[in-house]
Amino acid sequence: MISIRTESVSKSFGSTRALDGVTLEIEPGELFFLLGPSGCGKTTLLRVLAGFATPDAGSVFLDGVDVTGVPPHRRRTALMFQNYALWPHLNVFRNVAFGLEQQKLPKTQIAAQVRHALAAVRLEDCAQRSVDALSGGQQQRVALARALVVRPQCLLLDEPLSNLDAQLRLEMRHEIRRVSKESGLTTVYVTHDQKEALATADRIAILHEGRVVQSGSPVSVYRLPHNAFVASFMGETNFVPGALRQIAAGVAIVETSLGAFRGRLGNPHWNPAPGEKALLSIRPEAIEFASPSETPINGIRGRVAGSLYFGEIARHVIDAGDGLRLNVAELNPSDAQGAGRKSVTAVVRAEDVIVLEPGSSCSAL
Ligand code: ATP
Repeated sequence: MISIRTESVSKSFGSTRALDGVTLEIEPGELFFLLGPSGCGKTTLLRVLAGFATPDAGSVFLDGVDVTGVPPHRRRTALMFQNYALWPHLNVFRNVAFGLEQQKLPKTQIAAQVRHALAAVRLEDCAQRSVDALSGGQQQRVALARALVVRPQCLLLDEPLSNLDAQLRLEMRHEIRRVSKESGLTTVYVTHDQKEALATADRIAILHEGRVVQSGSPVSVYRLPHNAFVASFMGETNFVPGALRQIAAGVAIVETSLGAFRGRLGNPHWNPAPGEKALLSIRPEAIEFASPSETPINGIRGRVAGSLYFGEIARHVIDAGDGLRLNVAELNPSDAQGAGRKSVTAVVRAEDVIVLEPGSSCSAL
């Protein structure tokens, strides 16, 4: 198992700055996700790691060795693309063996490596099948076996599940995690799908306009976003503007038009002073209805402007006055339409109120 490190990697295409000083440290054996919207530089970064693109500035290290100028075939990385086109006229075995045959390895060695790769993706019984006769998920496994067969130390996956339907995506992301862990591979996985990243990753780096804007465990990037971009990109959230009244040890009290809120500072590098403007990020599922007699700090009072019932969850829109509408997700709802709740009180725990710098879309790590 090897580590991957990038130091201040930048890459431009004409006037487009695809990567802008990307520094990352990926642990040996880690399943690491690069997540971000279309055009943020994910594929470019993966191609730089594989050696298919050369950075204009900065360095790439594999296991501590600078490989910035080393060609792809000498890096022991395997890259699997979005469109993992298989050869339709070759059977499963020959599709997986193809790269090794090009290297003119001995037949017995090829057979052994192909068998091993097919076993890793649980397709050992399908070696002689035509790839056309396989399901989408099985074809995806063949593509994964083709990447594994060269015995890489790093597996680089670019939107590997984009060709699959929703149900297969769910199954295959667990499968990729299993294969990556059982094979002891350091894996970098590119996606724009937040749920895929949250459900599968050890750690996630979120890219925005060629820069890493935050990295950390799925729980940390979802629950403690450093800025407004990460807060809204990782999932639905409510933004409430306000001004800081008090701040001590990372805990802030913010005055808003809804009242005062106690919350946690999102970005550990932001040192605001009392009186500064702030933006609260509150996820819909963090807001809970409370009894009207409670007048807690972190309370929200308003009117139910609309409700939708989905069975396990109901979604409500609360009109809190002053032009503010908050989305609330209620788990296990007993009251489908919010009936009898025309006027509501709700509460949110301080740990679920994230205090952000207004306009902070791209602050440093
Ligand atoms: P997507 O999710 O849509 O695949 P991405 O996050 O992988 O996007 P990249 O493909 O890395 O983004 O592209 C980053 C930026 O660099 C984009 O603005 C893209 O248009 C540009 N770019 C990438 N490759 C080239 C190229 N070969 N020539 C010119 N511009 C490029």
